[in-house]
Amino acid sequence: MGNRKDDDLLMKDKEYLWHSMKTYSPDTTMVVEKAEGAWVVDQNGKRYLDAMAGLWCVNVGYGRTELAEAAYEQLKNMAYFPLTQSHRPAIELAEKLNEMLGEDYVIFFSNSGSEANETAFKIVRQYHQQKGDVNRYKFISRYRGYHGNSMAALAATGQAQRKYKYEPLAPGFIHVAPPDLYRSSDKKESKPEELQSVKDIDNVMTWELSETIAGVIMEPIITGGGILIPPDAYLSGVKEVCEKHGALLIVDEVICGFGRTGEPFGFMNYGVKPDVITMAKGITSAYLPLSATAVKKEIYEAFKGTEEYDYFRHVNTFGGNPAACALGIKNLEIMENENLFSRSKKMGTYLKEGLLDALRDHPLVGDIRGKGLLVGIELVKDRESKAPLNVEYLNQVISGCKQKGIIIGKNGATVAGYNNVLSMAPPLTIKKEEVDFLIKTVSEEIAKLI
Ligand code: PLP
Repeated sequence: MGNRKDDDLLMKDKEYLWHSMKTYSPDTTMVVEKAEGAWVVDQNGKRYLDAMAGLWCVNVGYGRTELAEAAYEQLKNMAYFPLTQSHRPAIELAEKLNEMLGEDYVIFFSNSGSEANETAFKIVRQYHQQKGDVNRYKFISRYRGYHGNSMAALAATGQAQRKYKYEPLAPGFIHVAPPDLYRSSDKKESKPEELQSVKDIDNVMTWELSETIAGVIMEPIITGGGILIPPDAYLSGVKEVCEKHGALLIVDEVICGFGRTGEPFGFMNYGVKPDVITMAKGITSAYLPLSATAVKKEIYEAFKGTEEYDYFRHVNTFGGNPAACALGIKNLEIMENENLFSRSKKMGTYLKEGLLDALRDHPLVGDIRGKGLLVGIELVKDRESKAPLNVEYLNQVISGCKQKGIIIGKNGATVAGYNNVLSMAPPLTIKKEEVDFLIKTVSEEIAKLI
């Protein structure tokens, strides 16, 4: 334990701060006091390689003084003005995001991923109304997907454990199963029309009545639900089905955006152009709160009517805060100057292959998968049954890694014992020798399970 001062701090933490005590492990609370690169330092001076980049978000790594300076300069010059009018940092960041998305988008700023998704739902519902398609209000999303903590974002979420005791949430959200290359019949190379997971969405839209479906929301790769890499043709298949039924496709890039999967945005791995794209976390590498809902220009155009309620009646006091936008612009500059998207691809492959080499023959390792610096290890009781390994074993690995100075995560479907995927999503700046340390430590701790 630490000294008296540290013990006092922990006592006060327990007394005054309400937070999840079990985010990544049942160990005692860490009070993180310093952070640099991919490392954080706790109240006792112990260093940890943060292989989760906080909550999958500190993409450029910790301790970037240029980000602090960008925010400081903006705060001195003009701390705040609402985006009912405009300011330069928001305009410039919106322009940059549109360029990154391949043009054609306008940007609405908020502060969190949940808000970006709430904004998307309202825009999509109103869009259909504006077009006179007044019965379209339902959204289809997937089991295992996560979209946020607010009532509609949680309604879209497909993880029952997170909703339990808060229901009823927002009405109009329907869930379908996601593709799971490890467990379901869909194959990586299948054509869109061969994918059961795409047919399921097509069927649900028909059965629910096409003309009641407003849109589909999905992460390009399910992240917190267990890092599920879809078949190559899945997302384009979903887009085709959306077009067939007149629904819009919202892609939630809150984790997958900003290089996490080795591309600027996750959907870019799959050759589609979504109608709406939501993003947060990596947009500022989490140095300040900021999120965005990017909307195709043709959708935005529908809000230019002259009737009393034709405009988007949605206000967000802090959304697009000038300091957050200025910092966001600098953050994107760093990503570009340091080639962090291709670095994520390269380091992610190195991490995945290293884990495969070390754990290929381990009987409890069912699957190792990932894209870019988003990597998961699915643990099973045995490879034949694929029955999920009990979460206590995962906690043991996480705890062992923590003792050796590495933070990793644990994810999955969160019900019926399916919380059996160890997850890694380090800063995109992670060095090769740090990846070596991660591979060695994680595989040593998994090896101890038999
Ligand atoms: N969407 C996804 C895919 C997420 O992972 C998260 C948060 O982890 C959210 C939305 C919600 O973001 P926030 O916690 O910033 O509200």
